[in-house]
Amino acid sequence: MTKARCLCGTLTYELDGPFSAMIHCHCSMCRKHHGTGFATFVLGPIAGFRLTSAEGKLARYRSSPKGVRTFCSACGSAGPSTLPELGIVAAPAAAFDGDLGIKPQSHIFVRSKAPWDLITDALPQYEAYPPGVEAKEVPRPVVAPRAGITEGSCLCGASGFEAAGAPMRMMNCHCSRCRLGRAAAHATNIFYKLDQFRWMRGEELVREYKVPDARFHTVAFCSRCGAKVPRASADRGFVNVPAGSLDTDPGTRAQGHIFTADKAPWFDITGALPQFPGAPPA
Ligand SMILES: [Zn+2]
Ligand SMILES: [Zn+2]
Ligand SMILES: [Zn+2]
Repeated sequence: MTKARCLCGTLTYELDGPFSAMIHCHCSMCRKHHGTGFATFVLGPIAGFRLTSAEGKLARYRSSPKGVRTFCSACGSAGPSTLPELGIVAAPAAAFDGDLGIKPQSHIFVRSKAPWDLITDALPQYEAYPPGVEAKEVPRPVVAPRAGITEGSCLCGASGFEAAGAPMRMMNCHCSRCRLGRAAAHATNIFYKLDQFRWMRGEELVREYKVPDARFHTVAFCSRCGAKVPRASADRGFVNVPAGSLDTDPGTRAQGHIFTADKAPWFDITGALPQFPGAPPA
């Protein structure tokens, strides 16, 4: 129950329960690192944390003066963060298997949430840090909107892209590969046609990981910061953009939840969007 892993299985670790908290974070750094609207973390004492395998693939990116984010350099999955000052480890809930003995308790950094990220549950919402945490917010770059263009970038900013016009579709995906790859409750993916999309910078930093037993499932991430970035599928004629990588409003909202039969047991889907147990209707 306390064993966690990345998408490729290189990174494995344990965090002893019972977990002291479980929170959804909507800050722009979590959005980019995970490629999703929000990341969900469980917290536990440092003493109960063990890295059980890494094979030299545990990469670190300093995202703020005090914050270090980790990821698997082979598959890009976000890993656990040690917070020595608080004596705790924050680990992505989605990296753990099954029921966690705890459910999400609140939303934090709601002030920074993406315009397309619609919170539909009744959990408490905090503008920034949860009550009791004294910390300074880290200023983050703001990108001015341009008419007809949606822009995005990775967490370190070295890679950036733009997409022209309206996307083909936008879906929340709850499949186990998206959950492990994004280390999040679910992915939110936006699809553009190949010719709508272009890299503006840093494409050479993008690394890809294809799930060996999957027909298509491939994760793209910035090798420097671990942020999830778009991936073009030439065979299928589209680019899958992790919505969390966007810096401006794509002007559309998710149209449904897919692969809900596979969803995390600790995550309750709320809101009125249609839900599909498997693949979306064509
Ligand atoms: Zn991995
Ligand atoms: Zn965050
Ligand atoms: Zn980066």
